[in-house]
Amino acid sequence: MSELYPVPADFAARAHVDAAAYDRLYPASVADPQAYWREQAAFLDWMRPFTQVSDTRFDPEDLRIRWFADGTLNASVNCVDRHLPAKADIPAILWEGDRPGDSRTVTWGELSDKVNRLANVLSGLGIAKGDVVTIYLPVIPEAFIAMMACVRIGAVHSVVFSGFSAESLASRIEDAGAKLLITADEGYRGGRTVPLKRNADEAVAGQPSIRHVVVVRRSDGAVPFTPGRDVWYHEALAAAAPWCEPVEMGAEDPLFILYTSGSTGKPKGLVHTTGGYLVHAGTSWRTIFDWHEGDIFWCTADVGWVTAHSYKIYGPLLNGATSVMFEGVPSWPDSSRWWSIIERHRVNIFYTAPTALRSLMREGDGPVRRHDLSTLRVLGSVGEPINPEAWRWYHTVIGGGRCPIVDTYWQTETGAVLLTPIPGAVANKPGRAGKPYFGITPRVVDAQGGVIDGPGEGNMCFEGSWPGQARTILGDHDRFISTYFAPFPGLFFTGDGVLRDEDGYYCITGRVDDVINVSGHRLGTVELESAISSHPAVAESAVVGYPHEVKGQGVFAYVTLKDGIPATEDLRREIKDSVRARIGAIASPDIIQWAPALPKNRAGKILRRILTKVAADDFQNFGDTSTLADPGVVDDIVQRRKADK
Ligand code: ATP
Ligand code: MG
Repeated sequence: MSELYPVPADFAARAHVDAAAYDRLYPASVADPQAYWREQAAFLDWMRPFTQVSDTRFDPEDLRIRWFADGTLNASVNCVDRHLPAKADIPAILWEGDRPGDSRTVTWGELSDKVNRLANVLSGLGIAKGDVVTIYLPVIPEAFIAMMACVRIGAVHSVVFSGFSAESLASRIEDAGAKLLITADEGYRGGRTVPLKRNADEAVAGQPSIRHVVVVRRSDGAVPFTPGRDVWYHEALAAAAPWCEPVEMGAEDPLFILYTSGSTGKPKGLVHTTGGYLVHAGTSWRTIFDWHEGDIFWCTADVGWVTAHSYKIYGPLLNGATSVMFEGVPSWPDSSRWWSIIERHRVNIFYTAPTALRSLMREGDGPVRRHDLSTLRVLGSVGEPINPEAWRWYHTVIGGGRCPIVDTYWQTETGAVLLTPIPGAVANKPGRAGKPYFGITPRVVDAQGGVIDGPGEGNMCFEGSWPGQARTILGDHDRFISTYFAPFPGLFFTGDGVLRDEDGYYCITGRVDDVINVSGHRLGTVELESAISSHPAVAESAVVGYPHEVKGQGVFAYVTLKDGIPATEDLRREIKDSVRARIGAIASPDIIQWAPALPKNRAGKILRRILTKVAADDFQNFGDTSTLADPGVVDDIVQRRKADK
């Protein structure tokens, strides 16, 4: 496949990094990562400068990951204070509520005032350096304020997606031993009210570690309130002193805990530290999105995911950038909502996930065409591989054919991006997550642990450390070592499969555990799904292996059709034929089951382990389903499977 979209010349001309710079700087950055990251660390304001850049060793017997260890700093000083007074009256946040017309602007001056006051409130409620504060808030400015207030006093934030149930919240509070919870009375999503305080009360009931609950007033609904334990945010802020002295933190002191999205099992609470994380998130955000002073940035991720931590909150705040923040969903009141927000705020840089793009694509181009998206300059994708079909739609219909797409590959564990086409430097190839970021050394490793040079396919690993990576799994360092460092000693193993092509581009082929072995041929789920989704009738698909008498494993495809397309036997045959034509007979699905919807977790990722069970006629023990967005989807899939038999 040689579909190549060169960097537009006018884009390259004003980009932070062009092809010549990348070709010169990248090899230097991996030849001497210490020198590279020392230089990058100057981006932050340190209280006490560090003397040693790193002390790292990917040895499962003696794992060491330490960056800038004797330096000290405060994250909120770097994210907020240092943009003042210059930006006091400039918007930090352009917020759009769920209901059209409900909007708010938060300037850097207001942000600073609220952060300082809330930090004092938290201190007053007994929170001190090292304590964990769980944040269960919708996408409202108070989420940013809460995170910044925590880190100002050295408290460790643990943000939990506000779409999670009381039970999921409780398990994350318990795992982290949180002392305080910050939530809101109610949230709004797609015109519906989310009973956050009720969920929070239920979650906190069995959690003795929580001493106080700070409640943001978002709605005017009456909610239960426990005097002595609960505190209204607005009342406490009004009474608090307007200045809070920032706490001096060691670079290796924890900054936050964040749970993975739970696509493959029980979520892991990854611990990120202060100095290294901020250096990596702040400098990579600027480079990857080619942000220039004055640009308006919008990342659609919910504050509960790592994408939001690094590239909606820390990245933009560290750089003093103005961001859009949207509380609602792309489909309400109609599917032009995102595009109207881009038009209204003249967004220049837009970062979203393939799952959302695919669902908007189902609606056709009409909702997009009604809006002026000509301010867009860079588009980003994250969370899963973007299939070429969706990539082309994003590029042509949303980006007007002129915007480079940064397909950013990374994980909660890696803290910041490891692979991406830097937009002014690396030509785009649809479906390819580009090339390594500065200071990053990817390794393609075969099943025996041998490193493959040049083109090839294998396990996605990284050699050498980078400052943004997580230091441990909270409360389970053994699991941290056994998951990421033991499989291939000396390397960090991501759990993903990868293909490196002849031009040095990386393509993520899916989770290694999901690889399907058909008669000894190993097939990645991503390639299969991309082939199926390239059929014009298909909106989305998920492929799993199932036990097959002759082949060992057969290919089982769950297929969602575009709106209004009838599911017929002819269509089944056509889809099978098109996979045969694109990949080969070996890959042609043995079974296609129609699925009006696919089981996804709250981050929008397909839960293949459930689909694998159903395909194998095992309708029980679906494992941890607490992250499922819509449990009804699973019932439907089970019923259809039973009916098809
Ligand atoms: P869990 O680890 O609990 O199963 P998760 O892996 O979905 O959940 P995240 O850390 O949010 O949780 O997601 C990281 C994973 O998402 C990566 O390991 C990879 O599989 C996938 N991913 C993210 N971005 C990309 C991308 N640009 N291209 C391909 N895959 C991606
Ligand atoms: Mg993962």
